[in-house]
Amino acid sequence: MKIKGKNKGFTLIELVIVIAIIGILAGLAIPRFLDYLEESRKNVCIANRAEMEREYAYNNAKGLANDLKTFLEDSTMHNPAVCPSQGTYSVGDNDHILCSVHDADLIAGNDPYGNNSFAGTDAYTSGTTYAKGTKVVGSDGIIYESVNAYNTSSYDPAGTYSNYGWKAVGTTNGKAIEISDTGTYQRYYEVGVVVKFKGEYYKSTSSTIKTSQPGESGWEKLS
Ligand SMILES: [Zn+2]
Repeated sequence: MKIKGKNKGFTLIELVIVIAIIGILAGLAIPRFLDYLEESRKNVCIANRAEMEREYAYNNAKGLANDLKTFLEDSTMHNPAVCPSQGTYSVGDNDHILCSVHDADLIAGNDPYGNNSFAGTDAYTSGTTYAKGTKVVGSDGIIYESVNAYNTSSYDPAGTYSNYGWKAVGTTNGKAIEISDTGTYQRYYEVGVVVKFKGEYYKSTSSTIKTSQPGESGWEKLS
């Protein structure tokens, strides 16, 4: 019996279109799924390393002092945690365990928390009045933005009086702003600007002038 009318099922061309649409949707979903997968592996790796760092600190607190390298290489001393992305672990600054895959930037000396570099920003010139919002490069390589309507030439942003009318917003090399141990932190930092202090990274969380050093109020420690 021949079926006539509308309900005769799919034609070949309709089937081809449906398959093509499924293909497009899968093409969109699979890369995102792979991103999620890698993100999960990274998080497992970070958690594994944090756990080993805690075990190391616990061992030291009990008086079983060892350097982190010895601890890391002796699998009897800690959970044999491995990187899900086949990274290998090594010892970095401040007793942090680094992963060859997930900390590749850090190991290569690149800064994972680079600030904006504002290409084309001019160097600060003494004697110039800078309108509010103007960005200049200080002699310290930090990029500052004028926060006053009229910024007089008296206040070199890289000088002692950088807190008068300037806020730090980035660096020319795209890296986090380095703050020396002796502390040149008493200035304004744009919210979100990242600094490196004693080997650790901190993000500015307030727009008021910093009277506290990184690690204290107005700063958020980054992992
Ligand atoms: Zn890893």
